[in-house]
Amino acid sequence: MPLPLDKPFTYRVPAGQEARARVGVRVLVPFGAQKLTGLVTAVVDESALEGHAAKAVLAFLDDEPYITERHLAFLSRAARECLAPLGEMLRTALPRGLARHEAPTAPRTETVYHLAPGAPEGAPMTPKQRLVADALREAGELAAGALSEKVPGGGDAAKRMAARGWLLAEARERVVGLSDTHLPDLAGALDPTPAQATALEAIGAALRGPESAAFVLHGITGSGKTEVYLRAIDMARAQGRQSIYLVPEIVLTPQLLGRVRSRFGDGVAVLHSQLTPAERTAQWRKVRAGEVFLCVGARSAVFSPFPALGLIVVDEEHDAAYKQEEGIRYQARDLALLRAGIEGATVLLGSATPSAEAIRMTRTGAATLLDLPERIGDSKLPDIRIVDLRGQVDRRGADRYFTPELETAVEETLARGEKAMLFLNRRGYAPVLSCLDCAATVQCPNCQVSLAFHKEYDALLCHYCHVRQKPPDACPSCGGHKLAQLGLGTERLAAWAEKRWPDARVARLDSDVGRTKGAASGVLSRMHRGEVDILVGTQMIAKGHDFPEVTFVGVLYADASLNFIDFRASERTFQVLTQVAGRAGRGDRPGSVLIQTLSPDNSCLRKIAAHDFFGFMNEELAVRESLEYPPYGRMMLLRLWGPKEERVRDAAALVAAALSEALAAHEIRLLGPAPSPIAKVKKLYRYQILLKMPADFPVADVFPELLRPLRDAVRRHGARMEADVDPYHMLV
Ligand code: ADP
Ligand code: ZN
Repeated sequence: MPLPLDKPFTYRVPAGQEARARVGVRVLVPFGAQKLTGLVTAVVDESALEGHAAKAVLAFLDDEPYITERHLAFLSRAARECLAPLGEMLRTALPRGLARHEAPTAPRTETVYHLAPGAPEGAPMTPKQRLVADALREAGELAAGALSEKVPGGGDAAKRMAARGWLLAEARERVVGLSDTHLPDLAGALDPTPAQATALEAIGAALRGPESAAFVLHGITGSGKTEVYLRAIDMARAQGRQSIYLVPEIVLTPQLLGRVRSRFGDGVAVLHSQLTPAERTAQWRKVRAGEVFLCVGARSAVFSPFPALGLIVVDEEHDAAYKQEEGIRYQARDLALLRAGIEGATVLLGSATPSAEAIRMTRTGAATLLDLPERIGDSKLPDIRIVDLRGQVDRRGADRYFTPELETAVEETLARGEKAMLFLNRRGYAPVLSCLDCAATVQCPNCQVSLAFHKEYDALLCHYCHVRQKPPDACPSCGGHKLAQLGLGTERLAAWAEKRWPDARVARLDSDVGRTKGAASGVLSRMHRGEVDILVGTQMIAKGHDFPEVTFVGVLYADASLNFIDFRASERTFQVLTQVAGRAGRGDRPGSVLIQTLSPDNSCLRKIAAHDFFGFMNEELAVRESLEYPPYGRMMLLRLWGPKEERVRDAAALVAAALSEALAAHEIRLLGPAPSPIAKVKKLYRYQILLKMPADFPVADVFPELLRPLRDAVRRHGARMEADVDPYHMLV
């Protein structure tokens, strides 16, 4: 049932309907005064009732099971691993939970424009309208979305032009599927390189065997990993089995989708967050029926209900986007491994910077390491240099981040007619507004964090609860009038670059830009057309893009990620900086990278500059082992929150006491309860308890039963509790 109750309920099958009662079928049942949709998880005979009465099923909603028994077994296991009730797991894993009525699957339409025949040549068009007309003349016809990507605001302009009769507008069904971009698929017809051939041989052998197997495919960007994925998917297809291809964020991968489409045509389903529920259901049905042999999607595609799953590819497996941070907290990579074990499927974890967990698996024998040691073609690895920011103290304010080395490098890049990228993982204009008299910073009214100044909104913004307020005229603490914008965000960086190089075309890409529909893909397509000279941005510029004209990448402030209070800070820094650095010199021209930092001797940064992944990982694993941190130990974070601080604190104390008693016989360390590092978010007070366990501790067997009564006790304190197994964000 779609309830936060972690147990099944028993109902009677009305006489004559026995044949319809099958595991995986949805049913309508009475529950108190309501009627709810449930899913049959087991069929038992009357003796199981032990004399108790059971209400009757009102209706069977499916003729054929909605999900297979094997898929249900996976979801049940996954629910236990994530310490979530099965009903909530079903809500996450099914296209629209357990909703009773499927909305009619009305197709979504979009407006397609063409130039009207006989539109007056000399019509009094605005400059933007002229751009729209030019774009249409060139393309023949364009959908509103595509038009807005080519000409910012072009969709609206076209609407007005259609109203004046200059354009013809036609509503057309929107095609769900891969993007229309076909990319030339050259490698498909070529022979694999020797390293690719070795990898494919091992994967092929695993696919032919009945057992589940896991591989970690390590290779820098451009070393031919994607080609290995595509060929492995083809091998699975040849055996009549289906594949799931997981990517961290689907909207950022138009190039990959173009390639997949060129290779496999229509045999592919796509799941992403921008589908309507009806579109999602339609894709899901195709997958369930085995009408397609591949499903590409972000983390939730791991639940694709294929009838005969053969392969799960997890691209960029190290990416934190695989961890779902709302509702049920699951890690899609870990669920891929779990599912493959149940279905006898093969898992391929690919990355230029595999996670500590993945590398550890290759050392314990749980996975096999496959290596693609070289880039294909002539492109060489970029030259990476570290720049010491400490010499910059005489510069004031944000100018401290702009070293002469960085300025020279950008200048030389522009002079050669090439492109540059500037990376900073802080958005907004200035991260902090601080009083120069009393040093107080302006804080969020709802959360215990500083507000960041965003110039484009002329407002202070909380990155936790999204509250927005006017910047104050005076310091809220002392009333002083000297409020300084401290630090550097992407917005300020872009403004600086525009001022410094007025002739260069500067664009910015971060989640603020991403909030405007079509804006992020607009920036990316301008980038592809060579219309941007300097691209400024956060992680969003790092992911998977291939811009051959970029030859310089500047990292403004590596310390921002290095100093994160998290045991994964070094690992994340290595991953993200390697990925950003990998954007430089992907074409035939060599690339160079500058990393600015206050800690130039930091070992992680040194290893990045030396392109020494295994050197870094060996050091990192040694540190983790000595501290019994993952992957040498397991962690679980219990978060409690509620509106009354004392009651949350009491509830946390109660949970901690109960757990330390129940777990006394185990080798488990309990840290806390303590206020969370950010002790208040959205007006709710937060406490946490961290459990450190041995790596092989049977979390799924011990905790569901242990936590169930505690959750109720916490609720009686007017608070809520959430368990995060293998947490990624320790801070919130
Ligand atoms: P990665 O996924 O590791 O970044 P790709 O698979 O995208 O690497 O390969 C990089 C480039 O090399 C792509 O343009 C691809 O078409 C090409 N390529 C891949 N494998 C081969 C091959 N065996 N022969 C020739 N070109 C290849
Ligand atoms: Zn806030």
